Amino acid sequence: MDVLVKYSLPELENFVESLGEMKFRARQLYSWIYSKSVSDFDKMTDVKKDFREMLKARAVILDTKIKKKQVSSDGTIKYLIEYSDGNCAETVLMRFDNRSNLSACVSSQVGCHMGCDFCATAKRGFVRNLEPYEIISQILTIQQDTGLKITNVVFMGQGEPLNNYDNVFSAIKRINEDLNIGIRRITISTCGIADKIKKMCENTLVPTLAISLHCPDSALRRQIMPVENRFPLDTLKDSLKYYCDKTGKRVTLEYILIGNLTDTKEMAQKLCDYIKDLKCNINLIPYNPICEGRYKKSAKKDTMAFKYLLESQGKKVTIRLERGADIDAACGQLAGRE
Ligand code: SAH
Repeated sequence: MDVLVKYSLPELENFVESLGEMKFRARQLYSWIYSKSVSDFDKMTDVKKDFREMLKARAVILDTKIKKKQVSSDGTIKYLIEYSDGNCAETVLMRFDNRSNLSACVSSQVGCHMGCDFCATAKRGFVRNLEPYEIISQILTIQQDTGLKITNVVFMGQGEPLNNYDNVFSAIKRINEDLNIGIRRITISTCGIADKIKKMCENTLVPTLAISLHCPDSALRRQIMPVENRFPLDTLKDSLKYYCDKTGKRVTLEYILIGNLTDTKEMAQKLCDYIKDLKCNINLIPYNPICEGRYKKSAKKDTMAFKYLLESQGKKVTIRLERGADIDAACGQLAGRE
């Protein structure tokens, strides 16, 4: 069976021609798959019946299955997607009452080998990279299932996107071209692979960048995020400045507030020093409990004190809304389990 989501438009044209059909049929298919997000050839009403029958015998649109779907009380939907080799990873639809954005949070790998101590994906270890079409399939799955059109994509599911560089950037090109989502609405989150951050600045399409900073103190960061050994904070900062200079954009610094560890006044002060000369916004993330976790949430008063100190330095600070925690769909809770 041919899996149509693997094909770009020119490849779809070749496929259609190989079935003895006119090239323009590929455009029809393309529009049904990506604009109208149908899951079934029979719904392609302007495709003639005998061609639909041929397609049903020869091809599928996606080769993935929804293994499990959970809907949170806040409207977040988490899908556990099973790939053709039996491996599973999540994708999450996030919607916010007061915004028209519909964001897909996609996985770039099954598992992850970065080993961050607070993250459930890390506890699972690394399984494999996802192919570009397997990333596109996550967005199409959401669109097919809900009938909604995704407007924003964040690479904040399982995996470290910059460790699956070629596949992630091929996927970004297709998200932009095939799913028609502007590059400013595509965000990569990374734990800080500094050399790849510099490398991506040379691409034609450079996404918005979010950094899982989480700690401004190198010694403590090394304890909770092994990536600090390879790309310490000053190397990371160098790459962030490079990104800002090259693209003219700001970076978002993500910062998990872990009670009595990263939420102290001392850490807030160190963070202020770290970002003094950086064009950035800060997104504070409440710690989400994971099983086997040994950390705790920051107390409300410590969270607010942390926020005010940063704001007094003129930085824009937001606290990330906790989405989907009741279905283990929140940051750091994705582990591919049923
Ligand atoms: N590997 C990339 C993409 C993952 S994004 C990265 O590190 O950025 C998932 C985000 O959730 C990251 O910022 C991650 O550090 C954060 N996270 C992980 N575990 C968490 C937890 N228990 N509570 C809150 N956020 C967590």
